[in-house]
Amino acid sequence: MSAQAAATAAYIVAALLTVMSLAGLSKHETARSGVAYGIAGMAVALVATVVLAAQSLTAGAIALLAVAMVIGGGIGLWRARVVEMTGMPELIALLHSFVGLAAVLVGWNGYLEVEAVEAAGGQTTVAPELLGIHSVEVGVGVFIGAVTFTGSIVAYGKLSGRMKSRPLTLPGKNALNLGALVAFGALTVGFTIAPSLGLMIGITAVALALGWHLVASIGGGDMPVVVSMLNSYSGWAAAASGFLLDNTLLIVTGALVGSSGAYLSYVMCQAMNRSFLSVIAGGFGVESGTSAAVEGEHREVQADDVAEMLADASSVVIVPGYGMAVAQAQYPVADLTRRLTERGVEVRFGIHPVAGRLPGHMNVLLAEAKVPYDIVLEMDEINDDLAATSVVLVIGANDTVNPAAMEDPASPIAGMPVLRVWEAKDVVVFKRSMAVGYAGVQNPLFFRDNTSMIFGDAKTRVEDILKAL
Ligand code: NDP
Repeated sequence: MSAQAAATAAYIVAALLTVMSLAGLSKHETARSGVAYGIAGMAVALVATVVLAAQSLTAGAIALLAVAMVIGGGIGLWRARVVEMTGMPELIALLHSFVGLAAVLVGWNGYLEVEAVEAAGGQTTVAPELLGIHSVEVGVGVFIGAVTFTGSIVAYGKLSGRMKSRPLTLPGKNALNLGALVAFGALTVGFTIAPSLGLMIGITAVALALGWHLVASIGGGDMPVVVSMLNSYSGWAAAASGFLLDNTLLIVTGALVGSSGAYLSYVMCQAMNRSFLSVIAGGFGVESGTSAAVEGEHREVQADDVAEMLADASSVVIVPGYGMAVAQAQYPVADLTRRLTERGVEVRFGIHPVAGRLPGHMNVLLAEAKVPYDIVLEMDEINDDLAATSVVLVIGANDTVNPAAMEDPASPIAGMPVLRVWEAKDVVVFKRSMAVGYAGVQNPLFFRDNTSMIFGDAKTRVEDILKAL
């Protein structure tokens, strides 16, 4: 078998492993094997690509490739080992930016190897009748890659708190986005007819600016959708590179990532009652409103009071949010669940689709602390039961339990479905201060008559309650 045929066979195996990985990742129970299939698929693809490339490379080039792989792999391993669960979303956003950058570099390489050589009167491997198609591939690949690159960098900035999560509202922002798309279309047509360095620079610059503006225009509450949308874009960027490099595996896996990311974005938009088109068009049609002022007194309680409340409760629902991840409170929360269950209290969890900073963030943390899957319910499964619940413990959640989303049409999170925790008999909110959540909106829940606040780090406070029980 030739090296090329062996590589094609390996690519088919790797593509199948990617499909199995995605299938596995769609359920808690099979997520681990999904990750294992993904790792195996990447390993097969990497080995096949390196072996195939080595056939036509000099010893010096192979050595360079090995050095790049060792350095890249080393950095990847180190980052993955040290990253905190709370830092995962921003790390993922940063990784998406690398995929985008790689697609831009592959596109530029395609231009330098083909169009630039043709323009200088040299010979290339692309047949003259296919040159136009090649130029379109270069233009589109660079465009998707550059949008993904800057968009992901802005997402990284917003998720890590280095940039304000408030949406940027430049005057005529929709016209700017549309103008960028039209400019891209015109530049790519021009580039296909008569490729030139100036047009390449133009396409790259327009796409870099558009990616930046699209994500900067999206506000706090819509960031989850943006993250999964950039995941999708990174898939399409990889697929575009696949066309340029004539690599079927990149096309297949890129399309899988692209379409599954797009579907996830769509599902998340539905869960948040947001228009999919509006979010992918950089907040098209969304005016940033000013929410009604929240006034009133909050009531503070201590661990002993909460322990007493729990001891008298017949049913408890725990609603975790980003603060549980920050505090790493999932372990004492799991202990509390066990203790209450042993005392005959019915304990369940209510998970909002965008709680935390990553789709499935809370599910991962609770699984890590060995909370049984069957008591971890989705928002829609538990919302109607909240009115009949004795105590709801809101642990580091804020935006996802904000009644203003339902009651204040001017609120920036208006229309987003939330967990109706205030319908329970008693609500206890764990947080460190009266500060706002990710979307920057004050939460009237904290001032309701049946709400008590327990201040401090969520982990310490839950441990205090365990001691008092
Ligand atoms: P929020 O981000 O709204 O609020 C978290 C709360 O946790 C804060 O109010 C904070 O209050 C509290 N907190 C922080 N650290 C601690 C600690 N150590 N101990 C106790 N409390 C703490 O959380 P939600 O999960 O309710 O909402 C998620 C938000 O993030 C939504 O707006 C969502 O749109 C957005 N988002 C979600 C993504 C996803 O994919 N899930 C991705 C990107 C954004 P204090 O400072 O007073 O302690």
